[in-house]
Amino acid sequence: MNGMARALLRAAAPAALSALVAAGCATTGINKGQFNIVSSAEEVEMGRQFTAEVEKEYKVYDNPAVTAYVQGVGNRIVKVCDRTDIEYRFGVIEKDEMNAFALPGGFIYVYTGLMRQMDDESQLAAVIAHEVGHVAARHSAERLSQMYGYQFIASLVLGKNPGMYAELFSNIFSTTGFLYFGRKNEYEADRLGAKYLNAAGYEVGGMVELMSKLKDLEGREPAKFEEWLSTHPPTGERLAQVQGYVATLAKPASPARNKDAYAKIKAQLPK
Ligand SMILES: [Zn+2]
Repeated sequence: MNGMARALLRAAAPAALSALVAAGCATTGINKGQFNIVSSAEEVEMGRQFTAEVEKEYKVYDNPAVTAYVQGVGNRIVKVCDRTDIEYRFGVIEKDEMNAFALPGGFIYVYTGLMRQMDDESQLAAVIAHEVGHVAARHSAERLSQMYGYQFIASLVLGKNPGMYAELFSNIFSTTGFLYFGRKNEYEADRLGAKYLNAAGYEVGGMVELMSKLKDLEGREPAKFEEWLSTHPPTGERLAQVQGYVATLAKPASPARNKDAYAKIKAQLPK
Protein backbone atom coordinates (compact mmCIF):
# COMPACT_ATOMS: atom_id res chain seq x y z
CA MET A 1 0.00 0.00 0.00
CA ASN A 2 1.34 3.42 -0.82
CA GLY A 3 1.52 6.47 1.42
CA MET A 4 -1.65 8.07 0.16
CA ALA A 5 -3.64 4.90 0.74
CA ARG A 6 -2.29 4.55 4.27
CA ALA A 7 -3.14 8.15 5.07
CA LEU A 8 -6.69 7.58 3.83
CA LEU A 9 -7.03 4.45 5.91
CA ARG A 10 -5.97 6.30 9.03
CA ALA A 11 -8.38 9.13 8.26
CA ALA A 12 -11.45 6.90 7.83
CA ALA A 13 -13.75 6.72 10.86
CA PRO A 14 -13.81 3.23 12.39
CA ALA A 15 -17.43 3.66 13.55
CA ALA A 16 -18.60 3.94 9.94
CA LEU A 17 -17.10 0.60 9.04
CA SER A 18 -19.34 -1.75 11.03
CA ALA A 19 -22.50 -0.05 9.74
CA LEU A 20 -21.33 -0.29 6.15
CA VAL A 21 -20.25 -3.90 6.50
CA ALA A 22 -23.74 -4.82 7.66
CA ALA A 23 -25.44 -2.94 4.83
CA GLY A 24 -22.94 -3.37 2.06
CA CYS A 25 -22.66 -7.06 1.39
CA ALA A 26 -23.93 -7.94 -2.07
CA THR A 27 -23.61 -11.44 -3.40
CA THR A 28 -24.18 -13.13 -6.73
CA GLY A 29 -24.34 -16.64 -5.31
CA ILE A 30 -20.96 -17.56 -6.75
CA ASN A 31 -17.64 -17.03 -5.01
CA LYS A 32 -19.37 -17.13 -1.62
CA GLY A 33 -17.32 -16.80 1.52
CA GLN A 34 -14.68 -14.63 -0.09
CA PHE A 35 -13.58 -11.42 1.59
CA ASN A 36 -15.67 -8.85 -0.23
CA ILE A 37 -17.53 -6.11 1.59
CA VAL A 38 -18.01 -3.68 -1.30
CA SER A 39 -21.68 -3.17 -2.27
CA SER A 40 -22.81 -3.36 -5.90
CA ALA A 41 -23.58 0.38 -5.93
CA GLU A 42 -20.10 1.17 -4.64
CA GLU A 43 -18.54 -1.14 -7.19
CA VAL A 44 -20.44 0.53 -10.06
CA GLU A 45 -19.41 4.00 -8.86
CA MET A 46 -15.75 2.94 -8.74
CA GLY A 47 -16.03 1.47 -12.24
CA ARG A 48 -17.64 4.65 -13.54
CA GLN A 49 -14.76 6.73 -12.16
CA PHE A 50 -12.20 4.35 -13.66
CA THR A 51 -13.73 4.78 -17.13
CA ALA A 52 -12.45 8.37 -17.02
CA GLU A 53 -8.93 6.94 -16.59
CA VAL A 54 -9.49 4.58 -19.52
CA GLU A 55 -10.40 7.57 -21.68
CA LYS A 56 -7.26 9.41 -20.57
CA GLU A 57 -4.84 6.52 -21.02
CA TYR A 58 -6.30 4.76 -24.06
CA LYS A 59 -7.84 5.65 -27.38
CA VAL A 60 -11.46 4.57 -27.17
CA TYR A 61 -12.41 3.45 -30.69
CA ASP A 62 -14.93 5.89 -32.08
CA ASN A 63 -17.08 3.79 -34.42
CA PRO A 64 -20.73 3.64 -33.31
CA ALA A 65 -21.54 0.61 -35.53
CA VAL A 66 -18.71 -1.46 -34.03
CA THR A 67 -19.45 -0.35 -30.47
CA ALA A 68 -23.17 -1.14 -30.89
CA TYR A 69 -22.30 -4.58 -32.25
CA VAL A 70 -20.02 -5.36 -29.30
CA GLN A 71 -22.68 -4.08 -26.87
CA GLY A 72 -25.27 -6.31 -28.60
CA VAL A 73 -23.10 -9.41 -28.24
CA GLY A 74 -22.43 -8.40 -24.64
CA ASN A 75 -26.15 -8.03 -23.90
CA ARG A 76 -26.78 -11.55 -25.17
CA ILE A 77 -24.15 -12.93 -22.75
CA VAL A 78 -25.33 -10.76 -19.85
CA LYS A 79 -28.89 -12.11 -20.19
CA VAL A 80 -27.72 -15.58 -19.14
CA CYS A 81 -25.08 -14.59 -16.57
CA ASP A 82 -25.23 -14.97 -12.78
CA ARG A 83 -25.28 -11.27 -11.99
CA THR A 84 -28.03 -9.06 -13.33
CA ASP A 85 -28.22 -6.38 -10.61
CA ILE A 86 -26.05 -4.00 -12.63
CA GLU A 87 -26.00 -2.51 -16.12
CA TYR A 88 -23.13 -3.73 -18.30
CA ARG A 89 -21.36 -1.32 -20.68
CA PHE A 90 -19.10 -2.52 -23.48
CA GLY A 91 -16.49 -0.47 -25.28
CA VAL A 92 -13.68 -0.95 -27.80
CA ILE A 93 -10.10 0.27 -27.36
CA GLU A 94 -8.10 1.08 -30.47
CA LYS A 95 -4.81 -0.70 -29.86
CA ASP A 96 -2.98 -3.40 -31.80
CA GLU A 97 -2.65 -5.74 -28.82
CA MET A 98 -4.34 -8.90 -27.60
CA ASN A 99 -6.27 -7.80 -24.57
CA ALA A 100 -9.68 -7.23 -23.01
CA PHE A 101 -10.52 -6.23 -19.47
CA ALA A 102 -13.38 -5.65 -17.05
CA LEU A 103 -13.43 -2.79 -14.57
CA PRO A 104 -15.42 -3.08 -11.34
CA GLY A 105 -19.17 -2.72 -11.88
CA GLY A 106 -19.50 -4.14 -15.42
CA PHE A 107 -17.50 -1.77 -17.64
CA ILE A 108 -15.88 -4.05 -20.22
CA TYR A 109 -13.39 -3.22 -22.99
CA VAL A 110 -12.12 -5.27 -25.95
CA TYR A 111 -9.07 -4.23 -28.02
CA THR A 112 -9.21 -3.84 -31.80
CA GLY A 113 -5.99 -5.90 -32.08
CA LEU A 114 -7.74 -8.87 -30.48
CA MET A 115 -10.91 -8.38 -32.53
CA ARG A 116 -8.86 -8.54 -35.72
CA GLN A 117 -7.71 -12.06 -34.78
CA MET A 118 -11.25 -13.36 -34.42
CA ASP A 119 -13.04 -15.33 -37.14
CA ASP A 120 -16.64 -15.04 -36.02
CA GLU A 121 -19.03 -13.65 -33.43
CA SER A 122 -18.77 -16.71 -31.18
CA GLN A 123 -15.08 -15.87 -30.59
CA LEU A 124 -15.89 -12.27 -29.66
CA ALA A 125 -18.67 -13.58 -27.41
CA ALA A 126 -16.13 -15.95 -25.79
CA VAL A 127 -13.84 -13.07 -24.79
CA ILE A 128 -16.78 -11.02 -23.55
CA ALA A 129 -18.14 -14.02 -21.61
CA HIS A 130 -14.79 -14.45 -19.81
CA GLU A 131 -14.89 -10.79 -18.78
CA VAL A 132 -18.54 -11.02 -17.71
CA GLY A 133 -17.43 -14.03 -15.64
CA HIS A 134 -14.98 -11.80 -13.75
CA VAL A 135 -17.74 -9.23 -13.13
CA ALA A 136 -20.31 -11.85 -12.07
CA ALA A 137 -17.83 -13.37 -9.61
CA ARG A 138 -16.92 -9.85 -8.44
CA HIS A 139 -13.19 -10.50 -8.77
CA SER A 140 -12.06 -6.86 -8.96
CA ALA A 141 -14.17 -5.78 -5.98
CA GLU A 142 -12.75 -8.71 -4.04
CA ARG A 143 -9.21 -7.90 -5.10
CA LEU A 144 -9.58 -4.20 -4.18
CA SER A 145 -11.03 -5.20 -0.78
CA GLN A 146 -8.15 -7.54 -0.11
CA MET A 147 -5.51 -5.06 -1.23
CA TYR A 148 -6.75 -1.89 0.44
CA GLY A 149 -9.53 -2.69 2.91
CA TYR A 150 -13.03 -1.33 2.98
CA GLN A 151 -12.36 2.12 4.46
CA PHE A 152 -10.06 3.00 1.61
CA ILE A 153 -12.70 1.91 -0.93
CA ALA A 154 -15.45 3.84 0.85
CA SER A 155 -13.41 7.04 0.67
CA LEU A 156 -12.59 6.32 -2.98
CA VAL A 157 -16.30 5.91 -3.81
CA LEU A 158 -17.13 9.16 -2.03
CA GLY A 159 -14.65 10.94 -4.31
CA LYS A 160 -12.50 12.13 -1.42
CA ASN A 161 -9.35 11.45 -3.35
CA PRO A 162 -9.87 11.67 -7.12
CA GLY A 163 -6.12 11.38 -7.79
CA MET A 164 -6.18 7.86 -6.38
CA TYR A 165 -8.12 6.52 -9.40
CA ALA A 166 -5.26 7.51 -11.69
CA GLU A 167 -2.76 5.99 -9.28
CA LEU A 168 -4.63 2.66 -9.06
CA PHE A 169 -5.15 2.60 -12.82
CA SER A 170 -1.50 3.27 -13.62
CA ASN A 171 -0.42 -0.30 -12.80
CA ILE A 172 -3.53 -2.34 -13.64
CA PHE A 173 -1.59 -4.58 -16.03
CA SER A 174 0.93 -5.85 -13.50
CA THR A 175 0.99 -8.45 -10.74
CA THR A 176 0.47 -5.68 -8.17
CA GLY A 177 -2.55 -4.18 -9.96
CA PHE A 178 -6.21 -4.63 -9.10
CA LEU A 179 -6.91 -6.61 -12.27
CA TYR A 180 -4.44 -9.31 -11.26
CA PHE A 181 -6.83 -11.99 -10.05
CA GLY A 182 -4.60 -15.05 -9.93
CA ARG A 183 -4.88 -18.45 -11.55
CA LYS A 184 -7.85 -19.75 -9.58
CA ASN A 185 -10.02 -16.76 -10.49
CA GLU A 186 -8.91 -16.78 -14.15
CA TYR A 187 -9.97 -20.42 -14.44
CA GLU A 188 -13.22 -19.55 -12.74
CA ALA A 189 -13.82 -16.76 -15.31
CA ASP A 190 -13.03 -19.24 -18.12
CA ARG A 191 -15.51 -21.78 -16.73
CA LEU A 192 -18.23 -19.16 -16.21
CA GLY A 193 -17.45 -17.71 -19.64
CA ALA A 194 -17.83 -21.08 -21.38
CA LYS A 195 -21.07 -21.70 -19.47
CA TYR A 196 -22.53 -18.30 -20.48
CA LEU A 197 -21.35 -18.61 -24.10
CA ASN A 198 -23.08 -21.97 -24.40
CA ALA A 199 -26.24 -20.84 -22.56
CA ALA A 200 -26.49 -17.77 -24.84
CA GLY A 201 -26.73 -20.13 -27.82
CA TYR A 202 -23.25 -19.51 -29.21
CA GLU A 203 -20.84 -22.14 -30.51
CA VAL A 204 -18.81 -22.81 -27.36
CA GLY A 205 -16.04 -24.20 -29.56
CA GLY A 206 -15.37 -20.54 -30.43
CA MET A 207 -13.65 -20.16 -27.08
CA VAL A 208 -11.42 -23.18 -27.70
CA GLU A 209 -10.58 -22.06 -31.26
CA LEU A 210 -9.67 -18.53 -30.23
CA MET A 211 -7.46 -19.78 -27.38
CA SER A 212 -5.66 -22.19 -29.74
CA LYS A 213 -5.03 -19.35 -32.15
CA LEU A 214 -3.76 -17.02 -29.39
CA LYS A 215 -1.54 -19.73 -27.98
CA ASP A 216 0.28 -19.95 -31.34
CA LEU A 217 0.38 -16.18 -31.76
CA GLU A 218 1.83 -15.76 -28.26
CA GLY A 219 4.98 -17.55 -29.38
CA ARG A 220 5.32 -15.54 -32.58
CA GLU A 221 4.43 -12.02 -31.37
CA PRO A 222 4.95 -11.91 -27.58
CA ALA A 223 5.09 -8.09 -27.57
CA LYS A 224 1.37 -7.98 -28.38
CA PHE A 225 0.55 -10.04 -25.29
CA GLU A 226 2.35 -8.03 -22.62
CA GLU A 227 -0.73 -6.63 -20.87
CA TRP A 228 -2.68 -9.87 -21.30
CA LEU A 229 0.02 -12.16 -19.93
CA SER A 230 0.84 -9.90 -16.99
CA THR A 231 -2.65 -10.64 -15.65
CA HIS A 232 -3.46 -14.08 -17.13
CA PRO A 233 -1.91 -17.57 -17.00
CA PRO A 234 -0.27 -18.80 -20.25
CA THR A 235 -3.01 -19.41 -22.84
CA GLY A 236 -1.88 -23.03 -23.35
CA GLU A 237 -2.69 -23.86 -19.71
CA ARG A 238 -6.09 -22.19 -19.94
CA LEU A 239 -6.84 -24.01 -23.19
CA ALA A 240 -6.33 -27.42 -21.62
CA GLN A 241 -8.72 -26.57 -18.76
CA VAL A 242 -11.34 -25.04 -21.04
CA GLN A 243 -11.33 -28.04 -23.39
CA GLY A 244 -12.08 -30.33 -20.46
CA TYR A 245 -14.91 -28.15 -19.22
CA VAL A 246 -16.47 -27.54 -22.65
CA ALA A 247 -16.70 -31.31 -23.19
CA THR A 248 -19.04 -31.60 -20.20
CA LEU A 249 -21.58 -28.98 -21.40
CA ALA A 250 -24.92 -29.88 -23.02
CA LYS A 251 -24.81 -27.93 -26.29
CA PRO A 252 -27.70 -26.11 -28.04
CA ALA A 253 -29.09 -27.70 -31.23
CA SER A 254 -27.73 -25.15 -33.70
CA PRO A 255 -25.21 -22.90 -31.98
CA ALA A 256 -24.55 -19.46 -33.50
CA ARG A 257 -21.31 -18.35 -35.12
CA ASN A 258 -22.58 -15.36 -37.13
CA LYS A 259 -19.52 -15.37 -39.34
CA ASP A 260 -20.90 -12.98 -41.99
CA ALA A 261 -22.08 -10.40 -39.48
CA TYR A 262 -18.68 -10.49 -37.82
CA ALA A 263 -16.82 -10.16 -41.13
CA LYS A 264 -18.64 -6.87 -41.79
CA ILE A 265 -17.52 -5.51 -38.42
CA LYS A 266 -13.99 -6.82 -38.78
CA ALA A 267 -13.62 -5.08 -42.16
CA GLN A 268 -14.12 -1.72 -40.45
CA LEU A 269 -11.42 -2.20 -37.81
CA PRO A 270 -8.21 -0.17 -38.11
CA LYS A 271 -5.17 -2.07 -39.39
ZN1 LIG B 1 -9.35 -12.82 -17.00
